[in-house]
Amino acid sequence: MSADCIFCKIVAGDIPAKRLYEDDALIAFHDIRPQAKVHFLIVPKAHIETLKTCTVSHTELLGRMLLLAPKLAAEQGLFGFKTVMHVEREGGQEVFHIHLHVLGGGPVA
Ligand code: AMP
Ligand code: ZN
Repeated sequence: MSADCIFCKIVAGDIPAKRLYEDDALIAFHDIRPQAKVHFLIVPKAHIETLKTCTVSHTELLGRMLLLAPKLAAEQGLFGFKTVMHVEREGGQEVFHIHLHVLGGGPVA
């Protein structure tokens, strides 16, 4: 846990989020500023700053993040969807705790 990290605070339950999934290693919650009708984030409970800091030791965790996307997307009523992971500010990353965006269902009304 990183003291100033908003996603660590969500994992700890210190900040509310519209959660849709939790297991031993991951949580998922709806994005607070949705860019599509359905837009949620798959987030490891462990604080990992960027994809660039991942090593082979994170292989299983990253695989589980990716494999969770179609399961939760289907539960949200999506047939198809898009996944995005921003890496570093130059890549659009704002929250430095890795997360996979899952978007679908068309533009926000
Ligand atoms: P990124 O640019 O990939 O770092 O994306 C960070 C995402 O986190 C943005 O889409 C934000 O809207 C979202 N976000 C930030 N704070 C919260 C929060 N408290 N609850 C849910 N989503 C959040
Ligand atoms: Zn964190």
